[in-house]
Amino acid sequence: MPLTYTPLTYTIDAELGVARRGRIDLPHASGEAAVQTPVFMPVGTVGSVKAVPQEIVETLGARVILGNTYHLYLRPGHELVRRMGGLHKFISWPRAMLTDSGGFQVFSLNELRKVTDDGVHFRSHLDGSSHLFTPERSIEIQIALGADILMVFDECTEYPADYARTRKSLDITLAWAERSKAYFEAHKHEVPWAADFAGRTQSLFGIVQGGMYPDLRRESAERLVAMDFPGYAIGGLSVSEPRHLTREVIEATLPHLPKDKPRYVMGVGYPEEIVEYAMMGVDMMDCVLPTRAARHGLLFTSEGRLNIKNRRFAEDQGPADPECTCMVCRRYTRAYLRHLAASQEPLSMVLNTIHNLAYYLDLMQSVRQAIAIGTLPSLLARVRAVARASAGPIATHS
Ligand SMILES: [Zn+2]
Repeated sequence: MPLTYTPLTYTIDAELGVARRGRIDLPHASGEAAVQTPVFMPVGTVGSVKAVPQEIVETLGARVILGNTYHLYLRPGHELVRRMGGLHKFISWPRAMLTDSGGFQVFSLNELRKVTDDGVHFRSHLDGSSHLFTPERSIEIQIALGADILMVFDECTEYPADYARTRKSLDITLAWAERSKAYFEAHKHEVPWAADFAGRTQSLFGIVQGGMYPDLRRESAERLVAMDFPGYAIGGLSVSEPRHLTREVIEATLPHLPKDKPRYVMGVGYPEEIVEYAMMGVDMMDCVLPTRAARHGLLFTSEGRLNIKNRRFAEDQGPADPECTCMVCRRYTRAYLRHLAASQEPLSMVLNTIHNLAYYLDLMQSVRQAIAIGTLPSLLARVRAVARASAGPIATHS
C-alpha cells in the first residue's frame, strides 16, 4: 500500500479584519516550534544568510529561511547536497527551509535566456556553461535540496510587459505549474530526509503570475486553486514596477486565494510594506533588503533608516537602535559600527546584518501580537511615520 504523505498544516489563531495570525506546521518546524505567521523569511541564497552563522540566525528567532535553487544547482550542485543528506544537514540548519524554483534568478541574472514551451535555456553566470531548467528539472533539484516548502517553476514576467505578452507568459506558467505538480507527486518520496520524518513530505506551492493586470492575476489564481496546492505565492513583483502597483496587484489577487491556505508574497519589502501586506492578509514574505542593505551600512531602526557610515555617528555612544535588544545593540555603539564600516572590516557586515535581521524579525513579532490584540492599524501608522521621516529609498539591486 502506498504511504500517505502529510504536507504542511496551517492553523489560524487570530484574525483582525482580513489579517491573520497563524501557524504553519512543517517537518522541520512542528508543534511548539511551528512557523508563526505572518512571517518574514531571511534569504540564505547559497546556503548561508550572508555574513551570519546559522546559530545566530536561530537565536534571532528565524524558524524558516530561504535557499535559492538556481545558485545551489550551479554550486555546489544539487546531487552533492543530496549526498550530504539534503540542505538542512549540509548547512546545519535544523529548522524549516523554503526553496524558490530558480525561475526568478534565471529571469534576473541571464540576459541570454531563451524561453520555450518546454523550459528555459540559460547560461551560468559563473562560467558561461549552458543549462536547461524545465518544470520537472526544477522540482527534481528542489527535492534533492529537500526544503520543507518548494515552489512550482514559473516564468517571471518582466516589467513593463504588454497584455498579449503577459497573457502568453501566464499560459506557459500555468502549464508548468501542472507539470511541476505531476513530477512532485510522483517523486516526493525521494526527499533526502524521507526516513527521518515518516509520512511527512515537502509542500509544493503554486505561484500566481499575470503581470500588472488584475484580470490575469485573477485567472491565474483561480486556475492554480483548481490544481489544489497547500499554499499559494504571488510572484512577479519587485521587478522594478512602482511600489503602489505592487500593493495594487497584491490587493487584487488576495481575494482569489483560499482563506485556509498560507499566502506568500515573494521578494518584499520595506518595513512599512511588510506590515501593510500583513494587514492585507499576507502570511509569508521574504526579501534580501535587510541583509543586502546591512552590507552597505544601511540600518533599519525604530528611528528610521540610517547610514551608519555617516560622519555624524563618529562619536555617537548610543546603540544602533535604542529600542532594539539584539546582541549588537546591547553591546556596541554607533561610533564603533561607523568605524568598522569606514574601515571596511568584515565584522561590519556581520554586526549590521544581525541588527537588521533582528529588526525585521522583531517587527513581525510585533505584527503577530498586534493582530491578536487588535492594534495593527496603529503599528502600521507608527512604522509609516518613521519611514516618511527617513532618507529616500535604498537601492536593493546594487
Ligand atoms: Zn539591534
